[in-house]
Parts: sequence; C-alpha cells; structure tokens
Amino acid sequence: MIRFRGALLSKSGLPRPYAQSRPLEIAALELPDPGAGEVLVRIRAASLCRSDLSVVTGARPWPLPMVIGHEAAGRVVRVGANVTTLATGDAVVLVYLPQCGACARCAAGQPWLCETGVAANRKGELLTGGTRLVHRGEKVHHHMGLAAFAEYALVAEASAIRIPKAVPPQDACVFGCAVLCGAGTALNTAAIAQGQSVAVIGLGAVGLSTILGAKSAGASCIAAVDRLEAKFALARALGATETALPQAAPRGAFDHAIECSGTLEGFELAMALVHRGGKVTTLGLPGPDAAYPLKLAPLVADGLTVQGSYLGSCVTRRDVPRFIELYRAGQFPAASLVSHRIGLEDLNEALDRLAEGRALRQVIEFAG
Ligand SMILES: [Zn+2]
Ligand SMILES: [Zn+2]
Repeated sequence: MIRFRGALLSKSGLPRPYAQSRPLEIAALELPDPGAGEVLVRIRAASLCRSDLSVVTGARPWPLPMVIGHEAAGRVVRVGANVTTLATGDAVVLVYLPQCGACARCAAGQPWLCETGVAANRKGELLTGGTRLVHRGEKVHHHMGLAAFAEYALVAEASAIRIPKAVPPQDACVFGCAVLCGAGTALNTAAIAQGQSVAVIGLGAVGLSTILGAKSAGASCIAAVDRLEAKFALARALGATETALPQAAPRGAFDHAIECSGTLEGFELAMALVHRGGKVTTLGLPGPDAAYPLKLAPLVADGLTVQGSYLGSCVTRRDVPRFIELYRAGQFPAASLVSHRIGLEDLNEALDRLAEGRALRQVIEFAG
C-alpha cells in the first residue's frame, strides 16, 4: 500500500471562479500494490485538457468522487503479475483508453474504439476491473483508467506505453492526449496525403498538434483558423502556411477540414470549407446535445465524407512511440503546446485559465 496526494473531485458543477469554489481538493489518497496486469506509476508530469474541465463542470456525467487527469508521463515503480510489456524503472506515457486487444473492435484492428476499455472508463474503473483508489476509507473513481493528477497512479498495463528514458516527462505528457488526438487525426483518421490541402479549425493544443500531423503528412497547404488572431503566430511556427479568422477562411477550397474547436460553429465552418469530394473530420467535443442538420442531397451530390475521430484512430502501442520519434527528430516540439508550468496545488486556478481560454496545455511538474 502507498500513501500520496492527488486532485480529488467530490462534486461537479461548482461555480466559477474555481479559484474560489475550489472543486479540486488536494487529498491524501491510498493505493494497494498492483495486481495482475497492473503497474504502479510515479507521475512526473501531467497536463490539463479541456476534457478535465467537462468533468469539473458536470457537462458529462462521471461517477464521483474521482481523481481526474488523463494526460501524464512517469516511471513504473512496481509491476504486478502477468505484466509482459513493462518493467520497473521504465519511462511511460499514460494513454486515456486502455486497448484490451480482445474485444470485437480490437480484433477488427480498431483498438481506438476498444469496447472493454471505454466501458471501464465510463464506470471510472480500471480495465482490470473495479477501483483501487481510497480516500478516508471510501472508494474513489479513476478518470479514464488513469487518475493522473496525483503523485502515483495504479493503471492497467495497456494504459502505459514505454518511451525512451531520455525524453523529459514534461514534454512526454502531452503525447497521451493532445498529440495522439491531433496528430493521430491528421495522419490516421483523415489520412492526409502528400500535397493535399487542409484547414484546421480551433488552435488549442489539439489543433496545433493536428497542424504538426498535417505537416508530417506532407500537406502542401495548412490553413489555421481561429477566432483569436493572437493564436496565429504559433500556428505558423508549427507549420501552418495560412491563417484566417473564421469569416475570412476561403469556402469550398480544401481537400480536408478538421474541426478541433469543440463547437457547433466550428463544425459548420468545416462543412463549408471543403470542396466537392472533400473530407470533414471532427474531433472536437461540444456538449452532448449539440446537433447539426446534415443536408443529404449535397452530401451525395458533392461526394462529401464526414467522420468523427476518437483518440486520433491511434493504436497506442504503435503511435505513441512513432510520435515520440518525430519529437526526437525535432518535428513535434511538444514544449510549444505548453503555456503554463504549475504545481498540483495550482489546479483550481489553472481550471479558470482553461475555462477563460487563457491557456494552452498547463503542465503539473512533480518534484523528485
Ligand atoms: Zn484530453
Ligand atoms: Zn478492446
């Protein structure tokens, strides 16, 4: 058994500013030793994503209490029985969907849609079944099989992907969500081909990662679209060849449009930006009730493709190492996605910055 500190959410929907309502409590937690198929990871760096905010607001219902956090890197410190891919001392990136390798979707070669993994996540449990976290004798749920805003995390083997030890954890952490989703969507889901044109809508960390993926795919034109001109300089530095406010983006001009803003307006714009035969891919997550009236005749007559992208259609054991290699080659400058470096106790203030759109990734750095 191990005792440590982590960010506990007991009640969602508290009012802003979070600096005052303080939804996240830095609480004393306990975890048992890892069981079969599990590892204990000492978290070295973790970053805050918009999905964490949706747990805090209650926009999506999750079982509470829960330790949140689903984007992190650390070191394996204990290994349970039957673990074959990891050893004590390994550096790992944690991934927010454990891919079981056995369900129908995994067997069909689509482990990013793993049914067992998503079912465990929705229950706030580990892929290996049940919860392990304890706070004052009460059971606590694990966010996305990770509960990574904590000094330690007990996770299923499939939730941790080994990376080279030389990669700094404060860079590695963003590969668990932002880079998998963004670059994965460009390279896997949209499968942008050399010389194609793409519009990327929404320039948060995921949109910027999408630009990195589009550049890596060899896109000849990468248009970065956002409501805030202040975001254009970084988008250009990471590979955008054009920048535009939404109203100024050229309609009917692109092979691909990738919606990363998580808004209905962003999706509507994506539909308008592709030419006939174009492909619209959306990875943004608006509220669960957001709806778009798809006109069927133009869908057919213009030969459009419209698709969603979960986890960037990534095979985590293949794609985390692949994207880390691009990072080591200087092509995925992860530190550019980070706007703030904070401590665990600064999370409520960080939630305010995220809610107000004043931050890219905010990375919690753990001492030691
Ligand atoms: Zn995320
Ligand atoms: Zn599966």
